[in-house]
Amino acid sequence: MKVLKFGGTSVGSPERMKKLLDIINPAERQIVVLSAVSGTTNNLVEIGQAYLAGEKVKASALIANLKTKYEKFIQELFAKPEYLDAGKEVIDYHFGLLSNLANEEFTTIEDKIILAQGELLSTTLYYVYLQEIGVPSVLLPALDFMKTDEDGEPVIDYMAEHIAPLLDQYPDNKLFITQGYICRNSFGEIDNLRRGGSDYTASLIGAAIRSEEVQIWTDIDGMHNNDPRIVKGTKPISHLSFDEAAELAYFGAKILHPQSVFPAQKYKIPVRLLNTMEPSAPGTLISASSDRSEIKSIAAKDNITAIKIHSSRMLLAYGFLRRVFEVFERYKTPIDMITTSEVAVSVTIDDTTFLGDITRELNVFGSVEIDVNQTIVCVVGDFSSETHGYAARVLEAVKHIPLRMISYGGSSYNISILVKTADKVETLRSLHSRLF
Ligand code: ADP
Ligand code: ASP
Ligand code: MG
Repeated sequence: MKVLKFGGTSVGSPERMKKLLDIINPAERQIVVLSAVSGTTNNLVEIGQAYLAGEKVKASALIANLKTKYEKFIQELFAKPEYLDAGKEVIDYHFGLLSNLANEEFTTIEDKIILAQGELLSTTLYYVYLQEIGVPSVLLPALDFMKTDEDGEPVIDYMAEHIAPLLDQYPDNKLFITQGYICRNSFGEIDNLRRGGSDYTASLIGAAIRSEEVQIWTDIDGMHNNDPRIVKGTKPISHLSFDEAAELAYFGAKILHPQSVFPAQKYKIPVRLLNTMEPSAPGTLISASSDRSEIKSIAAKDNITAIKIHSSRMLLAYGFLRRVFEVFERYKTPIDMITTSEVAVSVTIDDTTFLGDITRELNVFGSVEIDVNQTIVCVVGDFSSETHGYAARVLEAVKHIPLRMISYGGSSYNISILVKTADKVETLRSLHSRLF
């Protein structure tokens, strides 16, 4: 059974939604994961922020605005009056819920309920549309099987256990529709897999049902060899290994949610990145093997903070790194890059929630320097130990740019450098023109 995920732009207009059936074959048993209509989650974030700030009038205006968009949307989506009425009911229900939150105490729990409405709306409207045109389908509630644990990590075994009986209830149905992004956390509350999380949903469902293939349908013809929003002349990559794709997703290639490769990788489920606007384009295949071709792609991750801990007392002392890492572990803050010298260690983080506490604890070891507004630029390819010259080519391409950190050898498919975010664009362009 395949899993097909369609992103925000792929369901971004009634016209696009209708065109999904050019891609989905309703005769094949499959699970279709939908994102929210593009722009909706951003609007929901604003509504939540207004509520959190106690600005109920603003929240109400934002809700009305978004509701108007959906009223237009269903006018074009449905042709028959009874289905238009059904669509109106769907909208009234979800927007009523958003408005009613004004009467409640508002916490992050309610905020997450707000964020979930985008995917609930898109999937329900699509389900009603399929009814209108006579294509049988089943709407699977993601909140009944998508689950995260105390650490916010998805629990694939739980998903497998809970999705199987749902599918078994409908032995004769082919087309199952479900929501991307949303889940329940360990308290049973509505939660989500973070922005862009529908890719992650697709990969997790793929892993849970041991799918034969996961397809991520988006607005571009696969993973490109650099960020197409920044660099001109980027090209799609036909084949990536799971490791290479994971590295690119983690280090900022927006086409894939940072964690989305891991579940598919664990069960060796091939992932295809495909273009809804150009369904016949080959896209990118992500699988266990890879073409042995040197440098594949470049990605960049912003909002990085570099922390340098300098401690001459630690000279030759063993256990220093362990004590440094334990500080980050206590605050559940992942480290992305590390470089060390005899008396200092630099690390980067992107989650700065506990930066104050972390700095205070690190100060015990020595002096601590913090650099904000940094960007990790990551070059991915086949840099196994027998190959040579790649690091030199990368560094040659950025010799005019100040580098804060360089990391090579951590894996055989990644060279990362840390630059000021102000230098990112030039770094990406210069690497692109010299490496490809
Ligand atoms: P969706 O809404 O379908 O999930 P996203 O906007 O999340 O789509 O991801 C697709 C976008 O990712 C593309 O339109 C492109 O601008 C951006 N992108 C950034 N880096 C890359 C890359 N290396 N290859 C392809 N697309 C990329
Ligand atoms: N709708 C969510 C977002 O905009 C999830 C997704 O699109 O993947 O982040
Ligand atoms: Mg996305």
